[in-house]
Amino acid sequence: MKCKICRTDKFSVLYHGRIRTGGFGNLSDEKQTVYCCESCGAGFLPDAGFNYEAQEYREAVDGGAADVRMFQGLHDGEQAEKIAVTGTKGYRSAIIADIGCGGGSFLDFISGVAEETIAVEPCKSFQKDLARQHTVYSYVRDALDLWAGKVDLAVSFAVMEHVDDPLLFLQEIRRLIKPGGKVLVSTPNYDDWLLKFLPDIYESFFYRQAHQWYFNGRSMEKLAVYAGFKSVELVYKNRFDVSNALHWLRDHRPTGIGKMELFTELDCSYKSLLERSGRADFIYAWFTV
Ligand SMILES: [Zn+2]
Repeated sequence: MKCKICRTDKFSVLYHGRIRTGGFGNLSDEKQTVYCCESCGAGFLPDAGFNYEAQEYREAVDGGAADVRMFQGLHDGEQAEKIAVTGTKGYRSAIIADIGCGGGSFLDFISGVAEETIAVEPCKSFQKDLARQHTVYSYVRDALDLWAGKVDLAVSFAVMEHVDDPLLFLQEIRRLIKPGGKVLVSTPNYDDWLLKFLPDIYESFFYRQAHQWYFNGRSMEKLAVYAGFKSVELVYKNRFDVSNALHWLRDHRPTGIGKMELFTELDCSYKSLLERSGRADFIYAWFTV
């Protein structure tokens, strides 16, 4: 076995145990091993993945069919966090691509000021709705003929952990970008403090059939170098609050955010501490072309 990112063949074990196969509580029958490349630090789950053109995948990820209204209901609320990371500058009159855009929530919010919004999404049942507002492709390689070297910003939120070959994935995205343009990707962080603090409970939730790849800050930086980007800047985000962590500790299950108001005042300090120390649950990475 060779790492698809750095081509070395030395691995340690990042996790060994049952993994999540759908929503909370659905676990694999057998124990699985997530390997960690000793050179680039990327985590890898062999035999992971789904057919991303099929309904089955959306059911495993979102717990329901690939319906655009359902997608919007689940994901519209998350878009403020993304726009908080990017700011609102840089969208007006720009060419923006969203790779693995699902039902297109992010593009919908910025399409009012952008010149062109390119929706790359393999799931066929989203494509008809996406095409009403955006230019649609199944894969980045399909968009290269027309858009190579022309895109100002490509974003790809929580997609890279699903793909078969993250290096090829980023190299293809890079070809879309014009000189001086940027790529923003996000992915879960395997340095998330809860993984170390609550391993037995949280690990079998975090590691999942749908995610073939696992990254932390260091492995994202290495990946950027291998993909040929000029520079990388990491922004850690902890999406969940103190209430969520306390409920994990008490109930051993996810409860979302804001379930208890007593400690709301602590949320800012809690998130800021985790984000500064790289122990937050999510990583955004800016790559410059
Ligand atoms: Zn590697």
